[in-house]
Amino acid sequence: MTDTLMFWGTGDSMGVPRVHCSCPICEEARTTGRNRRYRSSVSLQSAAHGALLIDCGPDWRTQMEQFGLRDMDQVLITHAHFDHIAGLPEWADACRWQGKKGRVFAPLEVLEIIRRQFSWLEQHLELHDCSAGLDWGSWRIHPWKVCHGKNGYAYAYRFDRTEHTPYSFAYCSDSIHLQGEELLPLYGLQLLILGTNFYKEDAPFHTRSVYDMTEALQLLEETAPVRAIFTHMSHGVDIRLAAEPDGYALPPHVRLAETGWIVPLH
Ligand SMILES: [Zn+2]
Ligand SMILES: [Zn+2]
Repeated sequence: MTDTLMFWGTGDSMGVPRVHCSCPICEEARTTGRNRRYRSSVSLQSAAHGALLIDCGPDWRTQMEQFGLRDMDQVLITHAHFDHIAGLPEWADACRWQGKKGRVFAPLEVLEIIRRQFSWLEQHLELHDCSAGLDWGSWRIHPWKVCHGKNGYAYAYRFDRTEHTPYSFAYCSDSIHLQGEELLPLYGLQLLILGTNFYKEDAPFHTRSVYDMTEALQLLEETAPVRAIFTHMSHGVDIRLAAEPDGYALPPHVRLAETGWIVPLH
C-alpha cells in the first residue's frame, strides 16, 4: 500500500479564526468553516511503519480528537516555535498515562530549546537528534536549515523513498527568501509542501517570516517540483478563492491544503 500524507493543520501561528479578529475570513471560519485552520502539521502514514507526525502544535489535542486517534508514537519537529511544539507537553502526559515513551526527532539545536522550555518532558518523551538524517520506513529523511525571516531559522525536511518507486517530497512550512545552498534540496521533487502566510503580504520585508504565494510561485518556477501544496496560511488567505476564475489563479499543479486531506505519495 502506498504511504500517504494527511494534513492535520494548515494554519499560521495564530490559526484561523484569530481570536481577536472579525474580518470576513475569520467570520467565515467561525460559521461555515471552510477557512477554519488548525496550526500546521502533517502526518506521514505507512501501513508497515505506522505514523510520523511532523510538528505538534497547540491544536494537537483537538486534532487527535477530530481524527479519532488515541495513541501516537513519533514526532518530527521543524523548529521550536510555539505553533509547532506547544502540543508536546500534552502528548507527554498522554504517554505518562499509557506507560510508554514517545519519540521526538529534531536537530540538536531545536531539541535544546525544547529541553529548556519543557524541562520535565524527557520523563515521558525520548528526544533524538536527527541532524545527520533519519531512516523511517522506506524513507530517508534529511533536515536542512532554512531562513525564517525576522523569526530566525527553522528546519525543513526532504523525504526520499529508497525502496519501490522512487519519490521525493519536502515539507518546508516556515521559510522565506531561500538562497544558495538552502534551495538545493528543493530540486528534483515530486511534491513540495510550502508555507505561504498570505497571497501577497504588504508588510515591510524585515518584519516578515514566511513566503507569500506570489513569491512561492516564483520559487516553484525555479525549482520545478511536479506539484506543490501551500500550507501555514493565515486569515489573509480565503480558500474559496483558490478555485475561482478571478481568485488566486494558481497553476493547475498548485493547491491549497485543507484539514483532513490525504495525499498518496506516488
Ligand atoms: Zn509556524
Ligand atoms: Zn481575521
